[in-house]
Amino acid sequence: MWQTSDMTTSIDSALVWFRRDLRGEDHAALHHALSAARRVWCVFLFDRDILDLLLARGLMADRRVEFIDASLRELDALFAQRGHQCGNDGVRLIVLHGFAQEEIPRLANALKVQAVFANHDDDPAALRRDARVRNALLTRGIELHTYKDHVVFERSEVLSAAGTPYSVFTPYKRAWLKLLAEAHLQPLLTMARAARLAPLPSHISAAMPTLGDLGFEPSNLRQLNIATGRSGGLQLLDDFLRRIDRYDQTRDFPGIKGPSYLSVHLRFGTVSIRELVRAAYQRLQSPEASKGAEVWLSELIWRDFYHQLLHHHPRVVSECFKPEYNAVRWEEGAHADAWFEAWCAGSTGYPLVDAAMHQINQTGYMHNRLRMVVASFLTKDLGIDWRRGEQYFADHLIDFDLAANNGGWQWAASTGCDAQPYFRIFNPLTQSERFDREGKFIRRYLPVLAGLSAKSIHAPWLAKPGELAAARIALGRDYPLPIVQHDEARVRTLRRFAMLKGDPD
Ligand code: FAD
Repeated sequence: MWQTSDMTTSIDSALVWFRRDLRGEDHAALHHALSAARRVWCVFLFDRDILDLLLARGLMADRRVEFIDASLRELDALFAQRGHQCGNDGVRLIVLHGFAQEEIPRLANALKVQAVFANHDDDPAALRRDARVRNALLTRGIELHTYKDHVVFERSEVLSAAGTPYSVFTPYKRAWLKLLAEAHLQPLLTMARAARLAPLPSHISAAMPTLGDLGFEPSNLRQLNIATGRSGGLQLLDDFLRRIDRYDQTRDFPGIKGPSYLSVHLRFGTVSIRELVRAAYQRLQSPEASKGAEVWLSELIWRDFYHQLLHHHPRVVSECFKPEYNAVRWEEGAHADAWFEAWCAGSTGYPLVDAAMHQINQTGYMHNRLRMVVASFLTKDLGIDWRRGEQYFADHLIDFDLAANNGGWQWAASTGCDAQPYFRIFNPLTQSERFDREGKFIRRYLPVLAGLSAKSIHAPWLAKPGELAAARIALGRDYPLPIVQHDEARVRTLRRFAMLKGDPD
C-alpha cells in the first residue's frame, strides 16, 4: 500500500502552494491535489513578510534563502522532467516574490483553479498569513485546503488520558509511540500521478527570481558544500543510516561525525519526516535494532513535542513557558550588552563556547551539545535573557525552526516545560573536557589555540606561562581572558532564580 487516503477526481484544477516542504515525493498537499484535480500547478512564493524582515536585520547573505533557491531549482527540474516523461512539456514550478495574501489569490485567479492546496505551518505568524490568504481566496470563490505534513503527530493528536496536551516529554513520547502505526509512515503518493501536472499557460511566467532580484547576495553556502535539495537530503540520510547504530555513543561529541546533519532538510522539507521516522522505526523492528536508532527516533519525537507545544501555547514565542519566570531579572545595561557582544563574536574566553559560536557564525550550523552549552552560558553564566540568544540563533541558524529553537532555549534557561532545573548549571570547563577531550573541535574553530595541550586548551588562563609562550599566545591579545568567573556567575544565577521563590539564599 502506498497511500493512506485518496479522493477521486472531483475538481478540474488546483494549485499547490509549497512553503516548508520543498520536495516532489511523499508530500501531503501535492498528493491530495493530484488525487482531487485533473490539472495541477505548483507555486513557491518568496514571502516578503519574511524576507523583508531579514533584509531589515542586515542579513543580505542569508544561507537559508540560498538553500531555498537551490532546492527550488531542483524541484523545478523534477517537475519539468516528470511532465516530459508523461508527454507534458512545459511543466514548471512557478516562483513568485511578494506578499502571500496578494500573490497567491492573484495566481489562483489567473489559473482559474477551484482550490489551493498547502501543508500546515503552525508557526503563529504563518497561521495568521494563512488566514489572510484563505479569506482573500474565498472572496474569489476559491478554497484553501491544508494538510498535516511536517510532523508525524500534530496539534491535538497526542493528548493525555485526561484529554490535555503534554508538557513533559517522557509521557508524551510513550503516548506518541503507542499511537504510531505503519499507516502514519506510508509515503503519500505523488509522482505516480505526474501526468496531472499541467504545463504553464502562456500568460504565466516561468522565470525564477534570482537572489539579486530578491535583494540578497550569495552566502558561503557553496564553499561549505552544504548539500541542498532533495538529492542533498537523501545523500545525508544515506550516509547517516550507515552510522545510525552508533548515534547514541557519538551524538554528544562535536569533534566527530555523530548526528545526521539533516535539520536544514527537515526545516525546508526536502526530506519528509515520515521517511526519516520510517527508517528509524524499521531498524528498530529488525534484527539489527540498536540503541542508536532508538535514541535518534527519540530526537525526532522531541521535534514533534516542541511543535505541539507551540501549537497549544503560542505565548511561549515571547513569554516563559513557566509564567513565574517572567519575573526573572536578567542582566541589563552596558555590561550586559558588552557580554552579549562577546558571546556573539565567540570571544568570551571559554574556548568551547567560543568555538561553538565560530561554528554558527561560519557555517549556520551548531552541534546540539554546543547549542546547550552556549545557551546555558548566555543565560546562566552571563545572566542574559534567553530571548536575546534565541533571536541570535533565529538570525544565524540555517535550520532555524521556531518551535525547536524556542523549546531549546527555554530548556537551557530553565524557563521552559520539562526544562533543566535552574540549579543544574552546566560548567563550561567540564563540558569541554568531557565532550571535546582532545580539543579537536576547539582546534578546528579556534586555530589560535591549536598549539596548546589537550589539558590546557579547555582553560588557557590556567596554562603555564611557558606553554602559552611556546604556543605563541598572549592572553588578552591573541585570545581573551574569561569575561566572567564561572563559580561567581553560578552563585549569581542561583540567587537570581531563588529570589523569585522568596528564598533568601
Ligand atoms: P540529529 O541529532 O541527527 O537529530 C535528528 C533530528 O531530530 C534533527 O534534525 C531535528 O529535527 C530533531 N531534533 C534533534 N534534537 C532535537 C531537539 N532537542 N529538539 C527538537 N528537535 C530535535 N533544532 C532545529 O531544528 N532548529 C532550531 O532552531 C534549533 N534550535 C535549538 C536551540 C537550542 C538552544 C537547542 C538546545 C537545540 C536546538 N535545536 C534546534 C535542536 C537540535 O540542536 C538540532 O535539531 C540538531 O542539533 C540538528 O542537528 P542534526 O540534524 O544533525 O540532529
